[in-house]
Parts: sequence; C-alpha cells; structure tokens
Amino acid sequence: LAIFSDRKNSQGLNMNIEGIRAPFFNALDELATKAWQAGPIVGGKTLTSGAANAVLSPQDHSRQVGQVYFADKATTELAVGKAQAAFKGWRNTPVEIRAQALEKLADLLEEHQDEFISLCTREAGKLLQDGIDEVREAVDFCRYYAVEARTLMEPKKLPGYTGELNLLFAQGRGPFVCISPWNFPLAIFLGQIAAALATGNTVLAKPAEQTSLIAHLAVTLAHQAGIPTDVLQLLPGDGATVGATLTADPRIAGVCFTGSTDTAMLINQTLAKRKGAIIPLIAETGGQNAMIVDSTALPEQVVRDVVRAAFQSAGQRCSALRVLYLQDDIAERVLEILKGAMNELSVADPALWSTDVGPVIDQDAQAGLDAHLSKMQAAGKKIIAQTLLGKGCDQGFYIQPTALEIASIGELEKEQFGPILHVVRFKAKDIDQVINDINNTGYGLTLGIHSRNESFAEYVAQSIDAGNAYINRDQIGAMVGVQPFGGQGLSGTGPKAGGPHYLTRFITEKTITNNT
Ligand code: NAP
Repeated sequence: LAIFSDRKNSQGLNMNIEGIRAPFFNALDELATKAWQAGPIVGGKTLTSGAANAVLSPQDHSRQVGQVYFADKATTELAVGKAQAAFKGWRNTPVEIRAQALEKLADLLEEHQDEFISLCTREAGKLLQDGIDEVREAVDFCRYYAVEARTLMEPKKLPGYTGELNLLFAQGRGPFVCISPWNFPLAIFLGQIAAALATGNTVLAKPAEQTSLIAHLAVTLAHQAGIPTDVLQLLPGDGATVGATLTADPRIAGVCFTGSTDTAMLINQTLAKRKGAIIPLIAETGGQNAMIVDSTALPEQVVRDVVRAAFQSAGQRCSALRVLYLQDDIAERVLEILKGAMNELSVADPALWSTDVGPVIDQDAQAGLDAHLSKMQAAGKKIIAQTLLGKGCDQGFYIQPTALEIASIGELEKEQFGPILHVVRFKAKDIDQVINDINNTGYGLTLGIHSRNESFAEYVAQSIDAGNAYINRDQIGAMVGVQPFGGQGLSGTGPKAGGPHYLTRFITEKTITNNT
C-alpha cells in the first residue's frame, strides 16, 4: 500500500552548478572566522552566567569556533516550570498554526543554510556535503511532520448508536524532553523537536554538549518562525546534569532520545524510578550493522557502497557499516578493489571539498577507537587496509580508516563509532549461521545486502532483525518520508523517524461520546 503526499523533499545545494558553488564558497570564507556564542534559552532569553566553555574544532584544537554557557540544575528546573505553564495554550493552538510555524522554520533553515553548514564543519567536523545533507534533512523533518500532524490531529468521527456522536481526538501530552546526539546536530535535534511541537507538546531541548552552537542557532530561528519562547526552550549542558535532571522530573510528559544504547538504558531506569505518570520513551540508539555479499554480487558496486557506508562521516553514523560478510569465493576480488579504493581516500580538513574522511568528534572518541584497534591487533587480527592520514591531521582527532579481518560479528563487544570496518568471510552453506550471529548481537538497525540472486536477497532481508534493510545499495542516508528510519531490539523502540507512525508516540488520545 503506497503512502503518498504532495510534499516534496528539499533539493539541497547542487554543487555541480557554478552559480550555486561560487557564492556558497564565498559565504563559507566569510563565516570561517566568525565567533559564535550559545547558552541556555529559557523564557526567550539567552543566559550567559557561570563559566564559558570554549568550543574547539575537532579537526584543529587551535581553532576556536565560539563559546557556550551550560545550564545548571536550577535553570533546568525553571525551564520545566515554564514549559508546563505554556502547555495548555500550545495544545489548544490550532494544528494549522503549529504546522505553519514549522514550515516557516524550514524556510528559515534554507535561508540560513550557509551558517549551518559552516557550523557543521567547524563545530562538528562534518564534511561540507554532510553539512548540506544535514540542513536538507532538517528541512524535510519540519515540513513532513507539519503535513503529518494536520491529518493526525484532526478529530475523527466514529460510528455509534443513532443520536450518539463519537469523536476521537489526538492531543499533545505535555512538556516533552528531547535529547539528541552530536552526529546529526541539526537534523536529529530539530526532527525530534518538530515532531513534539507539531503534536501540541512543549519542548525542553537538550542537545549534545559538543554541538550546542548549532542547536542555539536552530532554536533562535524557531522562535523567529513563530514558536512561542516558553513552548521551546534550549538547555545545553552535560547529560549527567541537565539530561538526568530533566528525565527525573515528575512534570515531564515524554522523552524523545537519540544516542547510545547505554544512555537509553539509563534514561529508561530513571523514568521507571521517578514519581509521576507513566510516560513514553522514544529511543533511537546504536547498531552493529552488517552487510552480506554473496558470490553473484558485482565487486565494483560492492566496494563503492562499502566505502560510503563504512567511512563517510568518518563512520560516525548510527546506520554505518561495521561488519562486512563476504562469501569466500568473491572475497579476494572485493578486498583487492577495496584496498585500492581505501588508498585513494583523502583524510583531511572537512572544510575542503576534496576531503573524503574528516575527524572524529573528540578526544574520547579517538581514544576509544584507538584502543579498539590496539586490542584487535593484540588479538592477532589481520589489517587488510589502512588509509594514510593527510596533511594537518596531527592537529585534530583523526583515525585512519581501517579494514581488518575477524571471524564473526560475535567477537565485537560493542558498537565502534568510527571509520573501522570488520570483514568476515563465510561459506554459502553457512548463511543461516551468519544470520543467527547477526541476530544474536541483539542490535537491529541497518542491514546491507549485495546479491543478484533475488530469492537470496529476499531471504536474508526477511531473516535478519534490522529496522532498515537495503539491497544492492549502501545502507546510509535514509530519506524522510521515503525510508522511515529506526531500529529494533537494542537499536531502539521505534516508531520510525520520518515515517507515518512517528507522531503517534507524541500524542495522547481522547474519545468524547455525546448522546445528543
Ligand atoms: P550519547 O553519549 O548517548 O549522548 C546522547 C545524548 O544523551 C547527549 O545529549 C548526552 O549528553 C545525553 N546524555 C548523556 N547522559 C545522559 C543521562 N544520564 N541522562 C540523559 N541524557 C544523557 O550518544 P552520542 O555519543 O552523543 O551519540 C552517538 C550514539 O548515538 C551512537 O551510539 C549512535 O549509534 C547513536 N545514534 C543513533 C541514531 C538512530 O537514529 N538510531 C542516530 C544517531 C546516533 P552529553 O552531550 O552531555 O553527553
């Protein structure tokens, strides 16, 4: 059954057109040294009390992008009070007004895209193309949830006895806590917020510490777009302080979280212990994503998709490929081409258009990935290919894109959130064991399949418990309204972001029966 609407996804910037490319690079040059400032936005005011934290670029510690003031416990509690007081007014605001404000926000994001792309590169170490895609996805989320909300929030007339009117209403739940990660600092940050606002909730937004500047600009534009200041408040800060205070507060009515599985578990425990109503937790978390390649696949096509899925965004996508399963009679050919492709990757400053792989987000991420590589090597795992770092990488948090061989996905204890690809060879007769091994990780986010044998591809896609399976293409870059995104098991609760059921978790339902 097809689900269509006349909404169109954003086009982004077409960098093949000189008339777009030249002004874009000029704008980025002008923004390259801009000093940004962020802080909590509570009741419409940016608070700048306490110590300012310097924001340094992941690609070069000597480059300061700006400074950020973090919220403390008292500020967080003050904001919850304002969100609670503003709730009924926003819930009772017609859905059309809320949807139009989100559509206006989408327009403002497009108007300010140069600033966001510059910040994505400077604050989050993202490639320019990733920054372009980031803005595009944020725009799509705002417009998509505006359209979906108009239908969902419309009262529904139900059948009943003669003379009896039965109406089903969808309503916002109350103050919603939205907690997001740094790897999609605008798209996921605003996607959560847009869904909560469209459905009539007020929002307390806690961005990742590392990307507070992007979040601050986004919330400022949301207020300009007509979202009332007490309806959307920003609380940048440490997860253990701001995040934990918010999730323990009995006044909150729901939590939308994207981040690691460990943090989701912690939030789940906090919610279970807290006083107050039983409230929903929407959690989108990590993955241990595999791709299975059989001997009918086209090796060049496989390598193109493996390189993109494993190394684009320095492997810092929840959907990224972590374990490549190669059927033994195609493995040597694929690995030979993969080595060649990895030799050609440019690991460098993400602000350069020619860069293929940028830095990882911070020192902790770099240290964790280095420790994993050392452990694998100490265990005798063979490195298949490793890309050299380019000029200037010693100034930032870089990891060499690496492919190494392991025996099974079961050897990996947890998600390695960076440009590290594990390769496993398998025999055709062992495919069911491979499927079991992948399912036994407990994660279920993305799956890639390369095969020209349709029944094999279909069998694998149906047998592996992954939220998003992709056949004969890479497994990253899900599009809003096209590939609704989200995992199963340890990878998340659903419903899928950018899909037709997502908003249903943000509402409460009410039936009014009137015997007229
Ligand atoms: P993270 O460490 O779990 O942090 C996510 C957010 O949770 C941050 O804002 C963090 O604040 C906050 N937080 C930390 N402790 C908290 C607590 N006790 N209570 C409430 N909030 C708390 O994840 P990350 O490193 O930012 O992001 C990478 C992870 O996200 C990966 O596992 C990736 O797979 C996953 N991810 C999943 C999806 C998806 O759709 N499935 C999409 C993107 C990313 P701080 O910034 O202060 O730590």
